[in-house]
Amino acid sequence: MRLAGRAAFVTGAGSGIGRAIAAAFASEGARVAVNDLFEPAAKETAAALPGSGHLALAGDVSDAARVAAMFAEAFAAHGRLDVLVNNAGVDRTPGDGNEELMKGGSQLLAMSDAGWTRMLAIHLNGAFFCAREAARRMIPAKAGSIINMSSIAGLAGMGSVHYATAKAGLLGMTRSLARELGRHRIRVNAICPGAIDTPMARQVPEPVLKVLIAATPLGRIGRPEEIAATALYLASDDAGFVTGQAISPNGGIHIG
Ligand code: NAD
Repeated sequence: MRLAGRAAFVTGAGSGIGRAIAAAFASEGARVAVNDLFEPAAKETAAALPGSGHLALAGDVSDAARVAAMFAEAFAAHGRLDVLVNNAGVDRTPGDGNEELMKGGSQLLAMSDAGWTRMLAIHLNGAFFCAREAARRMIPAKAGSIINMSSIAGLAGMGSVHYATAKAGLLGMTRSLARELGRHRIRVNAICPGAIDTPMARQVPEPVLKVLIAATPLGRIGRPEEIAATALYLASDDAGFVTGQAISPNGGIHIG
């Protein structure tokens, strides 16, 4: 029970990796605030978690006022906040020129302002708003762990330009906040998964997925539970001296 008595807030936990993280945290004793844009998905995750005291919180992480309200509700219910996982994300946005990319054209030239801005708003504004609310509660407690879900896209520029930019931005945020918050004993780290079997990855066309698997030394895509195990490590005292780092469970598709 590595998170016994602790409280966690996981964004985008209605599906995929976030749902697996919520389950891993709950099975190690944490009470979890399960956020998702879609209320039924958040409720479904929260209802399936082992233990008690979990909350479902519907809301868009790119909406600062909604984020503030969700953290207030979670803190009122749990009385503490030990772990934040900024996991909510999308790999496509309306108007992002993905169709052009699939035809072999230029996504850069086809990208609308709205497609670009929405991607950065979800990943960067969302993680920033949540980290700010979390830090407001963690600083007085002089303890905490913040985990940002980046990607090999952020490390190596794989994937679409708006997604790779957002995920690289999360690495910058991780490093900066690790430096700022270390004196309050708050650790900030990133996870950079390779391709993981979730609803997001299932939208990737089969031929593209085959190329990815062929380029992966371990010869397969990953499971959400394998990312949850990394998040559990970073959330727990096992990672007590780890901050400002990016851990990449990726089967070897990106090394270095
Ligand atoms: P997913 O689509 O299964 O789950 C993402 C969840 O985030 C969804 O439930 C969605 O509703 C929620 N969400 C989206 N926008 C939101 C918003 N504005 N506010 C709140 N919730 C929102 O995807 P996943 O594969 O589990 O991805 C989880 C994270 O992992 C994402 O940040 C993604 O970029 C990252 N990631 C995924 C992979 C992969 O191959 N699956 C690889 C690297 C990184």
